[in-house]
Amino acid sequence: MTQQLRIAHLYPDHMNIYGDRGNVIALQQRCRWRGIACEVVPVGPGATVDWAGIDIVFFGGGQDSGQALIAEDFVERQGPALRAAIDDGLVMLAICGGYQLLGHYFLTHAGQRLPGIGALDVYTVGGKERLIGNVVVETNPDLSGRAFRLVGFENHSGRTYLGAGARPLGRVLVGRGNNGEDGMEGAVYRNAIGCYLHGSLLPKNPQLADHLIATALRRRYGDVGCVAPLDDALELRAQQVMVERMLRVRR
Ligand code: GLN
Repeated sequence: MTQQLRIAHLYPDHMNIYGDRGNVIALQQRCRWRGIACEVVPVGPGATVDWAGIDIVFFGGGQDSGQALIAEDFVERQGPALRAAIDDGLVMLAICGGYQLLGHYFLTHAGQRLPGIGALDVYTVGGKERLIGNVVVETNPDLSGRAFRLVGFENHSGRTYLGAGARPLGRVLVGRGNNGEDGMEGAVYRNAIGCYLHGSLLPKNPQLADHLIATALRRRYGDVGCVAPLDDALELRAQQVMVERMLRVRR
């Protein structure tokens, strides 16, 4: 039996900056290389989604203005069912503006309060200074059984604070992270991950891409063992060069 994964891409026309779409392409390609069929379902304003048929959800970042255009549709149309699916273990990756809307709310720098779906126990408050630059994060080992390093690029005014129901994705080695104060980056709840890492994130960090694919396969097909290894020598070398360069610059 051919395995198949379906990826829902939330608001691709409104929420896609710094090449966030590359995350969906990376997931799709890494599935194809392994003979796993992969379908991408774009979810725009007004769409109806059967979340039981979705294996991975991706939500990219956006300007405050882009977020304002879709926040109400997202919260009202998708909020209750998507929150329930995330409670049930649906695999999700949300970047920056998408991450903020997975939380309780985003109070923008201009004072607009954008509602979130509250799937992640986080809230975000915009600040005057933007947090911009390259980031290196060491993931929390409980994410996938071992810590690994992620490289990415952040550009956000929002400062995100975690409540007791979410744990950080990892520790910031270089960069500002969730709020520039507590040294942490991202938030994890069950199989949903929110973080500030543009990049695109997944092509640069194949370990995280495969963590999402493996978790989604397990959820759909039961214990399928490890995903077939791919030759990631180039990606890992590029990641390592970036980590070393950033750590050097920081010193
Ligand atoms: N508009 C949000 C902020 O500035 C998110 C930015 C982003 O997605 N890069 O915090």
